[in-house]
Amino acid sequence: MAAAAAAGREEPPLGIEAVAEEAAAAAAASAGFRLTAVRREPAVRLQHGASGLEPLAWSEDHRVSVSTARSIAVLEQLSDVHSGGQDMVIHRTAVPAPGTACTLKVGPKKEVAECKEKFASSVDPTVSQTFMLDRVFNPEGKSLTPMRGFKYSSWSPLGCDANGRCLLAALTMDNRLTIHANLNRLQWVQLVDLTELYGERLFEASYRLCKADAPCGELGDFPEFQRRHSMQAPVRMEWSGICTTQQVKHNNECRDVGSVLLAVLFENGNIAVWQFQLPFLGKESITSCNTIESGISSPSVLSWWEYEHNNRKMSGLIVGSAYGPVKIIPVNLKAVKGYFTLRQPVVLWQEMDQLPVHSIKCIPLYHPYQKCSCSLVVAARGPYVFWCLLLISKAGLNVHNSHVTGLHSLPIVSMTADKQNGTVYTCSSDGKVRQLIPIFTDVALKFEHQVIKLSEVFGCVRTHGIAVSPCGAYLAVITTEGMANGLHPVNKNYQVQFVTLKTFEEAAAQLLESSVQNLFRQVDLTDLVRWKILKDKHIPQFLQEALDKKIESCGSTYFWRFKLFLLRILYQAMQKAPSEVTWRPSHEDAKILISDSPGMGSTEDDQEEGTSKQASKQSLRDTGKGVDIDDTADDSLHQSGDTGGREPMVEKLLEIQAQIEAVEMHLTREHMKRVLGEVYLHTWITENTSIPTRGVCDFLMSDDGYDDRTARVLIGHILKKMNKQTFPEHCSLCKEILPFTDRKQAVCSNGHIWLRCFLTYQSCQSFVYRRCLLHDSIARHPTPEDPEWIKRLLQGPCTFCDSPVF
Ligand SMILES: [Zn+2]
Ligand SMILES: [Zn+2]
Repeated sequence: MAAAAAAGREEPPLGIEAVAEEAAAAAAASAGFRLTAVRREPAVRLQHGASGLEPLAWSEDHRVSVSTARSIAVLEQLSDVHSGGQDMVIHRTAVPAPGTACTLKVGPKKEVAECKEKFASSVDPTVSQTFMLDRVFNPEGKSLTPMRGFKYSSWSPLGCDANGRCLLAALTMDNRLTIHANLNRLQWVQLVDLTELYGERLFEASYRLCKADAPCGELGDFPEFQRRHSMQAPVRMEWSGICTTQQVKHNNECRDVGSVLLAVLFENGNIAVWQFQLPFLGKESITSCNTIESGISSPSVLSWWEYEHNNRKMSGLIVGSAYGPVKIIPVNLKAVKGYFTLRQPVVLWQEMDQLPVHSIKCIPLYHPYQKCSCSLVVAARGPYVFWCLLLISKAGLNVHNSHVTGLHSLPIVSMTADKQNGTVYTCSSDGKVRQLIPIFTDVALKFEHQVIKLSEVFGCVRTHGIAVSPCGAYLAVITTEGMANGLHPVNKNYQVQFVTLKTFEEAAAQLLESSVQNLFRQVDLTDLVRWKILKDKHIPQFLQEALDKKIESCGSTYFWRFKLFLLRILYQAMQKAPSEVTWRPSHEDAKILISDSPGMGSTEDDQEEGTSKQASKQSLRDTGKGVDIDDTADDSLHQSGDTGGREPMVEKLLEIQAQIEAVEMHLTREHMKRVLGEVYLHTWITENTSIPTRGVCDFLMSDDGYDDRTARVLIGHILKKMNKQTFPEHCSLCKEILPFTDRKQAVCSNGHIWLRCFLTYQSCQSFVYRRCLLHDSIARHPTPEDPEWIKRLLQGPCTFCDSPVF
């Protein structure tokens, strides 16, 4: 009583508090109901069934990997500005499963064969049966069904492969762990086989972790045979974030070197931490491999814990067990400078309650009341979500934890998290997805949650995995048919389907307030915007105004690129109108939101109604079809059948084209200024830069309408350095001068045409060059003779669309 009274004095009277709490709950609930899960075409049919744990993963560079029984299917989402189709644009590739079974190296070949023979024919049934039925010992199967396909896959952060994109770590059912890259957009190449390398390391170390360990037993002893397998059979693997360290070169110059870590959890609880230098090219990029003993029995899952506090980076590995416990293990990496770890393991959940930990996500967040950064750790345990909030204060590490119950009636099969805001999505096999929104309280947090019934979007389905897109715009789901009339389906058709998690307005607002200021990083958001413009055939007023305001008030070229994107999509939307009537009907069966069309005013209403009104939307669809097509024809902006309609349409297209060119010109000039700035900084005389400096200067000054003080001052300084010389480029075919008259190409007096590199404005006088992902510009390859600063310029993303160039 005394405690209650004491507490009462500090808090408002109970009545008011209760009302406030109710209001907060109502606000949270209504905030939750704003979620509109709308189907997004296309659904992608998989050739083979999904396999393994968490079969779906969405990379930071917008590729969705799907583990299947024969390959990892990779679906790359492209922000296509050249097609007028409303569907999401998806480019498919695959990482095939290896043709041969993987055998772990547990000793010399001959000895292993003899031991296997011995165990198989052992008179002791506990040995012979255990041996015969164990798939790690018998990967090729013989009498058992073949173990093909993939168990798990994991995407590296952006910036790891030779093109600065993500790498894919893949683990097969028979324990082969490999790393793959896709460098040419078509084929995936295996860069390294870590299972093989780790096996060799263990063999050389006589299967001891450190030299001080007691010598190991004989391979002929069954327990030793088992031990050598379980110490190298991977359970899962996860990539760390990119760590940048400084390296001192021979000439005493410092350079930043990026590296990334891959943690591999083994059956016996050991964790190997591989360190790779970036860009990762293959075996030669491995800098170290350390093994940590977690001491966790029956480990099931791991995740990196990465925490930044007062510019100090802390890291560790969160490991979950099939028996229930969750722990953070310190990671001591002497090789990675500036990295700190825990003094000892931190137990997040101790009970051996037999609720297996299925999935763990760790999300860095900012605590608005405690005013510090914190880590939110969530773990799927049976039908529950276990959460843990970690804060580092002067008093040390604070840990708050709890379980969220009442989410699912079946165990959670998949969990995914939006790293931007900490929203977590869980899914059980019955087609129910839960959205959990963290809401900070004074000291810790709580979760509001709501159900997303996929049956209302896709019909009755079973679900096998979910993944949220990098900026939280979409949820990808692996589905198969659910029960129909109380019967299970005869055939299972595995599909990857997409639903929206954000409205167009939310996506547009997020893009406008973006902190990354990179369109490529936000392809999922720009796709929602693209879809809206293609449907409505105009750029919504509020977005146009907000964007113009941003352009006026801040100099960032990001907003110009955003504008360019919108104009290009608008151009496509206008252009495709005449052909639309012919292609539309064939797609209609699968569409839900076909009733959206300009002038009907139905789009906003539909989106606000949310999931609860999906049923009525479905019925609306049929009436919508006819109306939509008629409506398109009636739209004054489009060709309406008679020739009179074509004129304003052509004019409109020309107008958009002119605007596109103006924005492209602005972006080109801004980049030219940057290039000239680099030239000025890094050269004494500009003769040897190989960049057509004079040409770029003249190009910038040639337009009287262009008056930019910084450009003028910079050009003045550069021209002074050049002292009236021009240092022109020469055509490699005829040695004639290549004038700089066009930003896109160079033509000599004999008519030889060379494309210009848009990163350095040099003419690309070879026939091999690089292109950005959207093919809107080209760039040359760096050469060994290029100075560092030109190499750096050549590493930049596309100046029009932000996508990588390769
Ligand atoms: Zn020529
Ligand atoms: Zn581009």
